[in-house]
Amino acid sequence: MTMKRLLIVGNWKMNGQLAANADLLGAILHPTPACDRVDMAVCVPAPYLAQAQLICQASALSWGGQDVSAHEQGAYTGEVSAAMLQDFKVRYVLVGHSERRQYHGESSSVVAAKAQRALAKGITPIVCVGETLQEREAGQTEDVVKRQLAAVIQQVGHCVSELVVAYEPVWAIGTGRTASPEQAQAVHALLRAQLNAATANAPSIRLLYGGSMNASNAASLLAQPDIDGGLVGGASLKPHDFLAIVAAAQAL
Ligand code: PEP
Repeated sequence: MTMKRLLIVGNWKMNGQLAANADLLGAILHPTPACDRVDMAVCVPAPYLAQAQLICQASALSWGGQDVSAHEQGAYTGEVSAAMLQDFKVRYVLVGHSERRQYHGESSSVVAAKAQRALAKGITPIVCVGETLQEREAGQTEDVVKRQLAAVIQQVGHCVSELVVAYEPVWAIGTGRTASPEQAQAVHALLRAQLNAATANAPSIRLLYGGSMNASNAASLLAQPDIDGGLVGGASLKPHDFLAIVAAAQAL
């Protein structure tokens, strides 16, 4: 059993529109779910931050962004700065999601710069790391995730303890193929050791697992000693599934 509050974060990805978002958030918040032992959040597309703020501000559900610019401001068309996210009182922002690394060419140094920008505005970066199937099969999982996390640790210095880290094996994202609790725990233990070497506060850093987490596998994943929550994609669009994952965390 863990003393830490678990954290369940939904990642809507590029889904949703005003009416559907209102329905989804309404279904999550009414009736009020039992979540006194769990923190919960949704990371929404940037255009819907104002809507999420309006609907969630008096609730236990926090809201966050899905990306932040590595730059402070200026001629970066299409980018969203940390100051802009701060205007909408976001608590969290995802950085280095595998879809950003894969489809938008984000390197670990760019991801680190993004984490730094978020921290500078008081926003908690959720730093995503994870190996591809090819990397796992080549026995490179440990090297890959350590390298990805090391870039961020090096950049943020003494702020390491303010991070949330999400281990998301790329082969498990959106595929229905989940890491087994043992596979996930093994990587989480590595990441914890790496954080331990960087800060005395490592035990309080929340390490989330992400990759096809759903209502039926959440409890066994969340029961692992170094898994402190979940980053939930597909299932976060279904209020019943998202709430079942929150309930599984609450029941631990
Ligand atoms: C994600 O987008 O971070 C994710 C884990 O997606 P899914 O739950 O759909 O695999």
